[in-house]
Amino acid sequence: MELPFAEAWKIKMVEPIRKSTRAEREKWLLEAKNNIFMLKSDQVYIDLNTDSGTGSMSDRQWAALMLGDESYSGSRSFFEFKDVVTLLTGFQYVIPTHQGRAAENVLFSHLLSKPGMVVPGNAHFDTTKGHIESRKCFAIDVTTPDAKNTQLEVPFKGNVDLVKLEQVLKENQGNVPFMVLTVTNNTVGGQPVSMENIKATCELCHKYGVPVNMDSARFAENAYFIKTREKGYENKTIKEIAKEMFSYADSMTMSAKKDGLVNMGGFIATNREDWYEGCKRFCIPFEGFLTYGGMNGRDMAALAVGLMENTEFDMLDTRIQQVQYLAKKLDEYGIPYQRPAGGHAIFVDADKVLTNIPKEEFPAQTLTCELYLEAGIRACEIGYILADRDPVTRENRFGGLDFVRLCIPRRVYTNNHMDVIAAALKNVYDRRNEITRGLKITKEAPLMRHFTVELERLK
Ligand SMILES: *Cc1c(COP(=O)(O)O)cnc(C)c1O
Repeated sequence: MELPFAEAWKIKMVEPIRKSTRAEREKWLLEAKNNIFMLKSDQVYIDLNTDSGTGSMSDRQWAALMLGDESYSGSRSFFEFKDVVTLLTGFQYVIPTHQGRAAENVLFSHLLSKPGMVVPGNAHFDTTKGHIESRKCFAIDVTTPDAKNTQLEVPFKGNVDLVKLEQVLKENQGNVPFMVLTVTNNTVGGQPVSMENIKATCELCHKYGVPVNMDSARFAENAYFIKTREKGYENKTIKEIAKEMFSYADSMTMSAKKDGLVNMGGFIATNREDWYEGCKRFCIPFEGFLTYGGMNGRDMAALAVGLMENTEFDMLDTRIQQVQYLAKKLDEYGIPYQRPAGGHAIFVDADKVLTNIPKEEFPAQTLTCELYLEAGIRACEIGYILADRDPVTRENRFGGLDFVRLCIPRRVYTNNHMDVIAAALKNVYDRRNEITRGLKITKEAPLMRHFTVELERLK
């Protein structure tokens, strides 16, 4: 008999979690103004808000913390971390920052030197879009139209539409300081970008003199999908694949809270000396000196270990098979999600579940609230609220997809938890026709409103 699949780790420390009653949750959600970011973590049973900074560190990472060097300048931990980044990416210049958005802030402060510039990308992440739009520049989406059809089963749904990209590059010549290539493509469902597409995208950009910044929060998961889905990469290691991915790009920004397996941190890496010099000017005043940039020495030490661990196939296989396990359960229950399952999460297609609720009443946010009320599970809306208003017309943007993201933290929950999540979602799904009214916004910020939005349930 073939041996079944099991995790590539065992558990050394546990953290108790607690269930609640429906009555408690109704009160708490009301107090949170129907915004799950406003809930206290003690009010949550299974937390699928994000995989960002929520993973479990290994014993080796905890051991590395104790060896961290907190020197203000020239920290040994910085050099350990920098050497790992160079080994994995080929980039020589490394600037640590306190998290991914800070890396964007530093690099974009250097590159987006005047308003009106255009930055194409495959579904810019919300903070990426925020950092572009807050500088009065434009983030133009060039993701493959495949990503819009949630039921279409293709291996690389995060790809760039090269025709659309070329059009943007042509129409805006001289006004595109860089392109953002996000791996995996978080916003459309943690969907990977193929090596063929990465290479072609970078070549096309370079033909127009446009450099490429790789938004690399989940580069290791992307490499896993290339290894398991793209011809010619079956026998390459994750580390070899990652290095090839980065070899086509000019720079990377990274939220280390994802594939770096740490709770906080980020960095920029590049081989362009002019960008490094430009970034230094913004890193020092906003983040800190160049050998810590907002991170503790011990955190850089743990990150160095995390990056090495999470570019091992077995670690990624454990994680992604768990996401696929949850997907299989949802298949059993007929619940529609962005197919195939992404690397870090399942993106439930809320428009297809709550069909009685018009876009104007935010189906995904409504479903997120229902799932919390059902079982204390905190998911996250990646949909019409997150899309913000159009910077010019100030209208809600209903053109994209309206997802409830069930985001799985790394090395935290077991498949028993996955069973609970699936069952809770099934219970909501079974009574979907009774859910006829959604939500109304009562208060919102002009940018990145989802974090602080306040909503009222319509009756
Ligand atoms: C999380 C993330 C960021 C921002 O990183 P933070 O560490 O949250 O600031 C940028 N891009 C992508 C694709 C991300 O997933």
